[in-house]
Amino acid sequence: MVISKRKIWTIWGLWALVFPIGLWLTFHYFPPQFIGMEWHILAFLALMCILSMLPIMINKEPVTVVQGVSLALFLEFGLSAEIIATQISFIFILLMVHIRRTEVYRIPLNSLIFFIMSLMSGLAYYSFGGDHQFGSTLDGKHIVLIMVYQLVYFVTNSITLSISDYFLHNKKFTFKDEGLLWDGIATLLILPIGIILFILYQQIGLLSILLIGVPVISLTWILKLYKQSKQINIHLKSAGEFGHQLTQKLHIDGVLELFINRISTIVETEQGYIFDIYNAEKEIHLLRYFENGEAIEKNIEPLRNGLGITGEVWQTGKALLFHSRKEWKHLDMGIIEPNIESIMTIPIVRDKLVVAEVMLVSTKKRAYENHQMMIMDILCSYLGVAIENARHHSLAMQQSERCPLTNLYNFRYIERELQVQFTNLTNHITKNVSLILIDIDRFKAVNDSFGHQSGNEILCQLAERLNSIVGKTGTLARYGGEEFVILLPNLAKEEAFKFAEFIRLSIANKPFAVHSDLDEYRSKQLVTITASMGVATAPNDADDEQALIRHADRAMYTGAKQAGRNKVAQYVG
Ligand code: GH3
Ligand code: MG
Ligand code: MG
Repeated sequence: MVISKRKIWTIWGLWALVFPIGLWLTFHYFPPQFIGMEWHILAFLALMCILSMLPIMINKEPVTVVQGVSLALFLEFGLSAEIIATQISFIFILLMVHIRRTEVYRIPLNSLIFFIMSLMSGLAYYSFGGDHQFGSTLDGKHIVLIMVYQLVYFVTNSITLSISDYFLHNKKFTFKDEGLLWDGIATLLILPIGIILFILYQQIGLLSILLIGVPVISLTWILKLYKQSKQINIHLKSAGEFGHQLTQKLHIDGVLELFINRISTIVETEQGYIFDIYNAEKEIHLLRYFENGEAIEKNIEPLRNGLGITGEVWQTGKALLFHSRKEWKHLDMGIIEPNIESIMTIPIVRDKLVVAEVMLVSTKKRAYENHQMMIMDILCSYLGVAIENARHHSLAMQQSERCPLTNLYNFRYIERELQVQFTNLTNHITKNVSLILIDIDRFKAVNDSFGHQSGNEILCQLAERLNSIVGKTGTLARYGGEEFVILLPNLAKEEAFKFAEFIRLSIANKPFAVHSDLDEYRSKQLVTITASMGVATAPNDADDEQALIRHADRAMYTGAKQAGRNKVAQYVG
């Protein structure tokens, strides 16, 4: 979500006002009590910083045990020391969660929240009579005060976070919030760690930091790894399901749409590119560009092999992962937006050739880890299979409904189309449908004089000529050898007749150029052909598909061929 400039300035302003004055007042009223103990403070701080670098993400919020250490620090050295240490260590949390450039406002915001939390819990501790004079063990009074400290810490945390949520995102506070529950549990679990550390520190001094620090750091580390592997398992499972869905899609548009919709739910990405590789032309073409799960129109010039990020991935066949802008700046292809930091580019390989690439980008630094690349690799191989499947399917469709010589629709296609048109007629979607049947005159003679190959050339040129005339007004198909059919929805008989007449003249008035295969020099020759045509219109002339064809054929034969050819005839019932 984009935060307005006004709000960001308010945060910085508030921080600049509250933080320095608050810090000065704290130091004034609760002067630091660690003169001569600087090394000890630094040891506590070091532990806090290390723990800050091991946040475990729960509900997208970083959870650490830093606060346990800061509690011990507070009890031993007082409020000022605790504030300073907390402020320094939280910087490390922010470093580890990799904030975007647009999220820099989170630095003053978190600084302020941590400051208020430290201050409120410290003040609560003191105002209930808390001090830093401990006997040989913790007494009941101090235990209660520590509880108060921790409670105020938790409450202030919840209040300041919900205020900032409301201020930034207009999000209302609810008690049912899962984040609140986790915060509560974390606060409770962390409390004993703080107390143990404090007691141990009182007994054995610096060594306590090591004794508590080592197991806590290792446990956090293990928990983090465990969380990560669990996350990978979840992703792998959904990647498998997703891959299965992808390969079920029959059309390439469907494949790409599904991929684009789902990918950003699996791997963080704000923008992405799917490239098609033309190995023969040595060019990379943009197939789809998308932002936040939606495909967006974008035109870019074809990219070359070996150049830029896509070029390198193509050449090496290996995925590339960049964590920040300066890592890929020298490979910039001029298509990536200037605010992008992280880039992950995965090749799709079929038969040892890179046939496509997927590039995901994010404005966040270190947005992609190695394990995400592994998942992307699996998804991209599914994508490769799905694209190939879809292309095979569309080729098979194309082959089954088109004539290979002229690439016009074939007999099978036009029969199906006729059915559709008759359904439209019965449902009153269209008023009528006309059919023109075209049969070339004395085509056998053309074959005999110029050869079969030249006959084929004429058929192809005629197909092109008819195609440009018919365009979108109707459906053109090659019906048989030298016969063509045109289906014209919503054209009345008279209009269809005029249209046929226009076609007849367009054939007869312009010769076709062929290279005669009977002539040994294969010189160019002009051949004039004519055609006879029959027109019939449903529902007037026919009640069903077969009758419409039969009647157009009858008209063609009796009204045009028998009447001397090069004519258009209408069916008369
Ligand atoms: P008309 O229709 O005027 O009676 O004479 P025609 O010679 O066209 O008649 P017919 O239907 O008897 O012959 C059709 C000829 O078209 C037969 C064949 O030589 C030719 N023909 C059919 N299909 C093809 C094709 O795919 N390529 C070539 N070159 N010729 C074909
Ligand atoms: Mg014929
Ligand atoms: Mg013929």
